[in-house]
Amino acid sequence: MKYAQHISELVGHTPLVKLSSVTDGLAATVLAKVEYLNPGGSVKDRIALKMVEAAEASGELRPGGTIVEPTSGNTGVGLALVAQRKGYRCVFVCPDKVSQDKRDVLRAYGAEVVVTPTAVAPDHPDSYYSVSDRLTLEIEGAWKPNQYANQNGPLSHYESTGPEIWADTDGRVTHAVLGVGTGGTISGTGRFLKEASADRAAEDGGRVRIVGADPAGSVYSGGDGRPYLVEGVGEDFWPTAYDPSVPDEILAVSDADSFAMTRRLAREEGLLVGGSCGMAVVAALRLARRLQDEDPEAAARAVIVVLLPDGGRGYLSKIFNDSWMRSYGFLSSEQGATVADVLR
Ligand code: PMP
Repeated sequence: MKYAQHISELVGHTPLVKLSSVTDGLAATVLAKVEYLNPGGSVKDRIALKMVEAAEASGELRPGGTIVEPTSGNTGVGLALVAQRKGYRCVFVCPDKVSQDKRDVLRAYGAEVVVTPTAVAPDHPDSYYSVSDRLTLEIEGAWKPNQYANQNGPLSHYESTGPEIWADTDGRVTHAVLGVGTGGTISGTGRFLKEASADRAAEDGGRVRIVGADPAGSVYSGGDGRPYLVEGVGEDFWPTAYDPSVPDEILAVSDADSFAMTRRLAREEGLLVGGSCGMAVVAALRLARRLQDEDPEAAARAVIVVLLPDGGRGYLSKIFNDSWMRSYGFLSSEQGATVADVLR
């Protein structure tokens, strides 16, 4: 019989699927890595498992301990799965821009959720960073994974996400496009792919190019941290989980374009995914178009892998809700965002 002892053993080994509709007119092969097929529904299961196991090994997390973390939901789900298996309590701190659906999911897994205001500076006592620090001090046996600084986050991607992409493309990937939040995904995956392709001949694609996707306004693409609505990506500070030497470039994408593409992915590719996925796909398609303009032959040989961090069910009342979209001016007509040309 073939079965896992626990759902948390099934993290990783997510498949690649070719995008065939939104890529119309583009010569490059664009492959999406579908992270919502992880047991907790997102890429964050990978770092959760690695961070908890490392903290147990170092003695920072002891039996009966409590995991306290500021998380927009996905890391919380991953941590809650692992915690359940191992008997830890979880307390998560979320900014109020995070959807009610996501908070309810965390509670369903048995975690406690504390909600803080989004519109305050990171050093404000009510910010979700400050509140989680305070709870870590107050709760006995508390351990804060701190995904923004924990090097086991990028390491989990160096050990799993990167090797999976390399193996599943038979070493033919030429570009990887990854959204940047804590920076863990791009830093670990990118480092692995660059090392793996370091000696690859130029005619076989040379060294893999690592392209970050970032919400317009966030610091990674040169913004000042001004607010944006896409969840899970972008920052208003520089986390140490992010290694700025890894990305070759960062592309900024607007909320409107991210959400328009997110809706197209559901409607045209059968991929019900989150807003940061739409954002990453916009960046991947802009890259594909630019390659084509620069060198059509090289573009035809390009294999662009774009990572889709989570699924769309946590956003039904936002991105997939027409009144919410209209209230921000993201749907200008009946068809609106589903037909928008986000490549302009
Ligand atoms: N998309 C979503 C929905 C996320 O939750 C995250 C994690 N914050 C990311 C993208 C970005 O991943 P990372 O933190 O590894 O940069």
